[in-house]
Amino acid sequence: MQFTTPDYYDAFRCIAGACRDSCCIGWEIDIDAKTQAFYEQVPGIFGRRLHDNIRDGSFLLDEKERCPFLNRAGLCDIYTELGEEHLCQICTDHPRFFNWFGAYKEGGIGLSCEAAAIHILTNPIRLVTREIPDDFGDDCDPALLSYLTQGRAKLLKILSQTKPLSSVTASMLRFADRLQFHMDNDIWELPEMEDVPAGSFDAAGMLSFLQTLEPMDPTWHGLLSELSVSLEKLPPPEPGDAEFLRNIGAYFLFRYVLQGVFDGEILSRVKLSAAAMQVIGLLWRYRRLTEGDTDLQTLADVAKAFSKEIEYSEENLNAVLDAAYELPAFSDASLSGFAC
Ligand code: SF4
Repeated sequence: MQFTTPDYYDAFRCIAGACRDSCCIGWEIDIDAKTQAFYEQVPGIFGRRLHDNIRDGSFLLDEKERCPFLNRAGLCDIYTELGEEHLCQICTDHPRFFNWFGAYKEGGIGLSCEAAAIHILTNPIRLVTREIPDDFGDDCDPALLSYLTQGRAKLLKILSQTKPLSSVTASMLRFADRLQFHMDNDIWELPEMEDVPAGSFDAAGMLSFLQTLEPMDPTWHGLLSELSVSLEKLPPPEPGDAEFLRNIGAYFLFRYVLQGVFDGEILSRVKLSAAAMQVIGLLWRYRRLTEGDTDLQTLADVAKAFSKEIEYSEENLNAVLDAAYELPAFSDASLSGFAC
């Protein structure tokens, strides 16, 4: 079967002990049944340690929410004692994500990892497809999948145009509106791309909405609140911001738009992509206001924080997709209002 990824997928390497926000801290890690069965048979002192540190199919996190196998050097004791092949599925995969569409599969690296975020910010998405052994997922309509794949390719093309971010986002949202209409009305031709005037971002409305979501990090709401009272003072975007934001927007389009094959919903997922660019861009400017210059790693860390709050909470992600149809801050005019 075919497997498609961004071309930077294979370049990703976990930085392990050098990671400042390890995915082995603060996340509940469920162990798949096959790996757990293996762990139950590991003999000796390490087997006892595994036995003592697993409850109800998950690792028992310590009081600082660290995985009990994350050692002081920031390395994984299971990896060093038993080998990479005996990590559980979540630890093997993270931060990679996979989406299955019947006999077709896609994958990428997630923005919630500081090393992956650097790749995502600095690389335009170029998709590459390879053959892999069969690994089928839920069935889907191949004709609809083909239509959406073409639609997504157009969305990515619009976003990559050498025009201001405001104007390409306005065109991207218009195209998504039309694409949704075509799908809802069984019109199986792709809409035309249109030039559309951009609007003005309702930043206060967006920030106020985000503060209604359950925070993953206890400092997140405070940050949004401080940003919302500083909107008038934000410095303008830096020259490189637009390119990084486009790459982030493309990551969201790639990761989410094809999910519409299962529920017929496209527009809210494209709005998620635009909202991510808007909020991350604002946070970068706020960071410059409060801490001066921002280097690439700082920008990546900010994008990572947004991703953790929205992408890695199913509840929050669904709330954003619902809000896309309900709130003025998610209107096309608002989401296209970039200052770059
Ligand atoms: S967050 Fe990324 S770089 Fe850090 S430990 Fe996890 S996979 Fe490695």
